[in-house]
Amino acid sequence: MTAGFDVAVIGLGAMGSAALSFLAARGAKTIGIDAYFPAHALSSSHGDSRLIRLGYFEDPSYVPLLQRAYRNWRDLETRLRADVLTITGVLQIGADDGKVVAGTRASCRMHGLPHEVLDRADMARRFPAFQLDEDEIAVLDPQGGYLRPEVAVMGYLKLAAQDGAVLHFGERVTAIETSDGGVKICTADGQYRAKKVVVATGSWIAELVPQLQAHAVPIRQVVAWYQPRDGFATEPQRMPCFLRDEGAEGSYFGFPAIGVDGVKVGRHAHFREPIDPNQPNPPVNDADTSLLDGFISKRVPAAAGLRVNAVTCRYTMLPSEDFLLDLAPGNPNVVVASPCSGHGFKFTSVVGEILADLALEGGTNLPIAAFSFDAMNRFVAARKPV
Ligand SMILES: Cc1cc2nc3c(=O)[nH]c(=O)nc-3n(C[C@H](O)[C@H](O)[C@H](O)COP(=O)(O)OP(=O)(O)OC[C@H]3O[C@@H](n4cnc5c(N)ncnc54)[C@H](O)[C@@H]3O)c2cc1C
Repeated sequence: MTAGFDVAVIGLGAMGSAALSFLAARGAKTIGIDAYFPAHALSSSHGDSRLIRLGYFEDPSYVPLLQRAYRNWRDLETRLRADVLTITGVLQIGADDGKVVAGTRASCRMHGLPHEVLDRADMARRFPAFQLDEDEIAVLDPQGGYLRPEVAVMGYLKLAAQDGAVLHFGERVTAIETSDGGVKICTADGQYRAKKVVVATGSWIAELVPQLQAHAVPIRQVVAWYQPRDGFATEPQRMPCFLRDEGAEGSYFGFPAIGVDGVKVGRHAHFREPIDPNQPNPPVNDADTSLLDGFISKRVPAAAGLRVNAVTCRYTMLPSEDFLLDLAPGNPNVVVASPCSGHGFKFTSVVGEILADLALEGGTNLPIAAFSFDAMNRFVAARKPV
């Protein structure tokens, strides 16, 4: 058995790489282990771009964490001397009383966040790439933009290594056992002893965290890239990132033409089809492309040129579609980081800090009470039919 570490981090995607970096920066003796080579195609942390926005429609209680995340993203950029976060603004488009628009306005009001409300005529004048219905409006979050996931993950790993973390890639953890007041981590290649372990294994999380077996569901997600019809209107200076509320059909997200592949779009949670995390992602099919082609033609006609790429990746959903960041029930040496229900990337820079707090201090001053096992179990109990 290898000599002991203060903390072992299992899974080095977004959440694990950030945790490892925060832990190593605080002087902890750490090891990070990943079954593959981050940020790989089976993970949830690749694909060029991730949205970040401050006026969070999902719930205003996320805003303080986001404010901390923004600060930490800028710190990461300073340490890396690389661009990770680009501000383009984010437009949240839909009916005035719909979930996305009303939720964004409520969040902005509650936290005094700058935002602009634009009607259909304002949008046609300022952001001509988008097509709005008569009764729709948009809320512009001027602090929104996009993150570069691969730069962030590889950057956190680089900083962790510089700060002394040991990195093992291509090594799958098969079991975590409690031993001698700490933990024993077993892989096909060896065993490691640590005082604490952070489990951040994305869509595979239920394999090492039995309490999540009935609750963490990996689903198929599809995104596609289109060559713009109007290259001028779809440049980032004229086309902010966006979220679009389609009522009962759910919400779509998208990015301006920030790379050679053009404009990227997807529907949040797509068709909600569960997948087996140990199988390759199921290929893109006609139903996927016709959904996204139809959306872009109708709602972002300036971008609806040739579809040049489409890929399948994975979300992992919890019942409330929130996060779970907590100590394992009955085992305070095990810290659990869920893959965050398809909207976690923007929080990575603060989740890393939280996970380091939980591993080294057993708690955190950051507001995560809503992301506990107790909160998840209460949610599940409340929705069960009596
Ligand atoms: C298409 C798509 C679009 C998204 N868009 C946004 C967005 O716009 N904004 C936003 O905020 N969020 C977004 N998200 C969500 C966000 O990207 C995820 O919440 C986040 O990337 C999850 O990161 P993770 O580290 O938990 O998981 P992963 O990136 O999957 O990392 C888990 C790692 O654990 C490793 N692992 C698994 N099992 C083992 C084991 N037994 N032993 C060792 N290693 C193991 C894996 O190899 C993997 O590298 C999106 C997600 C997808 C897929």
